[in-house]
Formats: sequence, structure tokens, C-alpha cells
Amino acid sequence: RFIALEGGEGVGKSTQGRMLADALRARGLEVVTTREPGGTTGAEAIRAMLLSTEGEGWGARAEALLFAAARADHVDKLIRPAIARGAWVVCDRFVDSSRAYQGGGGGLTDDEIMALHTIGSAGLLPDLTLLLTVEPEVATERLSLRDGDSADRIGGRDAAYHRRVAEAFMRFAQAEPGRFAVIEAGGTPDDVHAGVIGSLAGLLS
Ligand code: C5P
Repeated sequence: RFIALEGGEGVGKSTQGRMLADALRARGLEVVTTREPGGTTGAEAIRAMLLSTEGEGWGARAEALLFAAARADHVDKLIRPAIARGAWVVCDRFVDSSRAYQGGGGGLTDDEIMALHTIGSAGLLPDLTLLLTVEPEVATERLSLRDGDSADRIGGRDAAYHRRVAEAFMRFAQAEPGRFAVIEAGGTPDDVHAGVIGSLAGLLS
């Protein structure tokens, strides 16, 4: 099984990914936790290039190509082999982040993003995509509490960009209700975790 966690920065994806992995392991399942961009040596190298604060930064088009390349390596070397041996893969971000950030935020069309994904990763999609949503003020507050976080974010994006990202995520979730579960993530980690487990009921039975 392949589960992706999605949403803007500060919604709690990493915390929920850890809690979900622990819950699945407690049921005796093999779980591989990973993140995008990253997850393999090559993809982590591309992550470092994407997050580098030196120079003028990347445009949306170059960004989309780099994310697609990182994902191709990650899918080939880690995600597909894990799925093939029957493990559960819990991935912090996947192609819907590219659709929301480089597409919704950066202005590429969804067809362009999906064409790159078809070339890079044969169009692999998660069985379930958990979209965590919080009010923008909650996300900002959570980010401000996180240590050294800004080094781990692509900068130079304004509030309007992040609003387009959030709107794009919601559009995708509405267009594919079978693949997405939208989880309101403003509550405590335990509350949100309960929502995550509830949305997995169909896959766990
Ligand atoms: O998931 P995480 O917050 O670690 O992502 C690192 C950075 O990469 C963030 O700034 C995120 O917005 C950005 N990102 C992006 N496009 C993606 C995936 C992540 O701009 N497709």
C-alpha cells in the first residue's frame, strides 16, 4: 500500500506520518517512511539544490523538472520495490505537491506536471492521499515554533502563492474523492491521528 501525506507547510504532515507509521507497525505491518523531495541519495542531492538559498532560485519550470527527476529516482529505487514486497509506504508529499506548488502556485498546467510525472515515474499514484488542512494562521504559528525551519523551505514565495497552493490541493481532493481524504488538522496530534486512522479503515480491513 502507498499512502501520501499532503498539505501546505506547517499542517503537521511529518508528525502525522510518524504516528501513522507507528500505528501500522503496531499491527505487525512492514512500513517504509520516506519524504519528497528526498528519500534516496540522488533525490536528497536534488532536494539540497532545490532548497539552496544561494543565487536567484529556480523558476517554476526548472523546479518542476527537478522535482520530477527526484521523484523518478525515489520511485524506482525505494517506493516501487517496497510496494512490490508488500510493505506499506508512508510518504511525506508526492506528485500532488508538484501539482499544487509548481502548478497551482507556480502557474504550470496540470497536464504539464502530469506529463513529467508520466515520463519520470510512469504516473504512479498513491492508493490514498491524506490532505491535511489548517487555517493559514495556525500553519504560520506552527512554523514559527519549529527550530531552524526556514533552511528547509523554498523561499521567495508570498502569501498569494501559498493561497493558490491550498486552493489547488482542495480542487484535486474534490476532483478525486476516492483517492483523497481531507483531514482538518487544526486539533491536537492525537485528534488528527484519529482522523487519519478513520480514513484508512477501508485499506486496513
Ligand atoms: O515537505 P517540506 O516542507 O520539507 O518541503 C520542503 C520545501 O519544498 C517546502 O518549501 C515546500 O513548499 C517545497 N516543495 C515545493 N514543491 C513540491 C514539494 C515541496 O515547492 N512539489
